[in-house]
Amino acid sequence: MSIPQTIRVSSAVNREAHYVGELPVKALPRLREALAGDGGSVQADLLAWKSSGYPALSGTLRATLDLECRRCGAVFAYALAHKLDLRLVSSEEEEARLIRDCEPYQVQDDELALHELIEDETLLALPMLPRCESCENVRKEASATTPETEMPRRENPFAALKKLKL
Ligand SMILES: [Zn+2]
Repeated sequence: MSIPQTIRVSSAVNREAHYVGELPVKALPRLREALAGDGGSVQADLLAWKSSGYPALSGTLRATLDLECRRCGAVFAYALAHKLDLRLVSSEEEEARLIRDCEPYQVQDDELALHELIEDETLLALPMLPRCESCENVRKEASATTPETEMPRRENPFAALKKLKL
């Protein structure tokens, strides 16, 4: 089954609908805005089911997206893989009750905007500080060396104060 724009939650859950398909980045305007290019698509593999009495939507989102490196400004391909396990709740009370144990997603009038949900979840899965591979390696090397060897030794400011007082 491809990915419908909207689904009726109760019937999708009852027949355990399985949605497999892809949405082009060009069709997801908020995501497109967060990226450095509009190529590619988000591949979704989602199952509607019932988890301890609650309608649920679980599965994965995968995409290769163009991001801009925060450090050097280069555009690079970011491989995103995001696992979803959402409980579809219909009120804020339900949401508040479930939020400690799982991830609630609020649905109105039994209707779920599936494309919007996929876009939301992809946005959430993007790195906060995207770094290209070479910048990421530089960062790893820097944090692997101990602070003593990396930083020039400086005198403890309190020790320096003590010396002044003597
Ligand atoms: Zn970089």
